[in-house]
Amino acid sequence: HNPTIKRALLSVSDKTGILELAQALHARGVEILSTGGTAKLLAEKGIPVKEVSSVTGFPEIMDGRVKTLHPKIHGGILARRDLQSHLDAMTTHGIGAIDLVAVNLYPFDQATAGDQVKLEDAIENIDIGGPAMVRASAKNYTGVTIIVEPADYARVTEEMGSNNGATTLKTRASLSAKAFAHTARYDGAIAAFLTSLQGTEGDLNDVPARHEYPNVLGLQLHKVQDMRYGENPHQSAAFYREANAPEGALANYTQLQGKELSFNNIADSDAAWECVKTFDAPACVIIKHANPCGVAVGHDTLQAYQKAFQTDPTSAFGGIIAFNRHVTRETAEAVAKQFVEVVIAPSFDAQAREVFSAKQNVRLLEIPLSVGSHRFDFKRVGGGMLVQTPDLKNVQQADIRVVSKRQPTEQQWADLMFAWRCAKFVKSNAIVFCKDGMTMGVGAGQMSRVDSARIASIKAQNAGLTLADSAVASDAFFPFRDGLDVVVDAGASCVIQPGGSMRDEEVISAADERNIVMVLTGVRHFRH
Ligand code: 5GP
Repeated sequence: HNPTIKRALLSVSDKTGILELAQALHARGVEILSTGGTAKLLAEKGIPVKEVSSVTGFPEIMDGRVKTLHPKIHGGILARRDLQSHLDAMTTHGIGAIDLVAVNLYPFDQATAGDQVKLEDAIENIDIGGPAMVRASAKNYTGVTIIVEPADYARVTEEMGSNNGATTLKTRASLSAKAFAHTARYDGAIAAFLTSLQGTEGDLNDVPARHEYPNVLGLQLHKVQDMRYGENPHQSAAFYREANAPEGALANYTQLQGKELSFNNIADSDAAWECVKTFDAPACVIIKHANPCGVAVGHDTLQAYQKAFQTDPTSAFGGIIAFNRHVTRETAEAVAKQFVEVVIAPSFDAQAREVFSAKQNVRLLEIPLSVGSHRFDFKRVGGGMLVQTPDLKNVQQADIRVVSKRQPTEQQWADLMFAWRCAKFVKSNAIVFCKDGMTMGVGAGQMSRVDSARIASIKAQNAGLTLADSAVASDAFFPFRDGLDVVVDAGASCVIQPGGSMRDEEVISAADERNIVMVLTGVRHFRH
């Protein structure tokens, strides 16, 4: 049985869309109750509202700490519509039923975001009456519709329109689950914040760099979609988007065509997009199983693609391809010749889209090209979670030390810098051969550096690429000279690596002995 909504309570901090909701409810003859700020806004726009204080006969007191905490409100929400004793209690105490509640909470996250937070402000931003109403309504969802997100307003009023002024039980139940998720997240954020103060007797001034405390539990995630399966068909999975994700983050993609993205598609697309974004020149990155199998820059996207593809045509089959520039018809035609799962770019020409439209399985994603990163990376481990700041380090030429007798030429500098950028996105141990703005051989994910070096040079051979005078990047130091000898034997004339090994001296004299250039970044880029 779906009760017609006759009386609603609106009390929101984020006033987005509240006017439209109130208008739609008023148009259906719903009586509207509201708290101070919300009531004022609606009254100003000519919507008849009744202040909660006039219903309770009690003013809002203590600077708003106590507004809606009253039996006339909570009784109206919590009363079971199917129990005579509850209905009698309403009559006895002059309580009117409240059928719809739209509440969103004080913005605790925003209030505690920066590192200039005042404890007093943080505490005042702990909403008490709001969560009480949200939880009461969500508990009594058989009779009450609870909306915690402006994005759900239209869905509810549309349903009322086609359902005699009522919502369906299915909708109320799903809104209820959402409401409890909302208050859980809210309390999580408060708990995380207060936990970060522990040992300081609540004095924020005693907390060094408080912004470094990961507000893990306060992460606001919204489910984008359930997926057919996870990394493998027997795993279930879903994709979540973070509230306030940076504009240029993968999760802000727009899919222009193609099948639904899979779990592995999304993970690999992220790797491709993050890598391609780090280049200034037109660039192309091809990813397979989380590793680049081709990275290149060129004077346009077509050239960048052709070079990237050349690195490892075998592995590029079924890959994920990202560009950091508008994609034109010529590039689309070249890409469409290979089997590709996903193509990502800031934008596509109308003609480029036409080319891909003949291949409906190809997923096309547009993502705004803008910088900005999430604050923390997470990795699940048994019984816990590892949290770290992301690897945003981009070493500049001026930070790099030449340690060999031989000095790099301008061309070698360019190749070394390019190789270093690529190595950062290759799983450890990473060895990357590069030349003329393209990868020539990628050795990824091996347990020994010397094996990565061997694999990289074998792959270059397989692709018919010659490594003479190439540059090599190693994501971490060479523990022995053996890895260095492998890359020099293969044709490398210059090497970039962090340095810092106990055997640096041995490795540097090996570089001099082999008459190659060696430069040290002082920065490591492990990636697992
Ligand atoms: P308004 O702008 O309408 O004055 O206030 C809306 C906010 O007040 C909402 O975020 C709502 O959750 C919150 N709120 C409603 N009732 C109470 C209450 O009794 N105590 C507290 N602390 N907050 C309340």
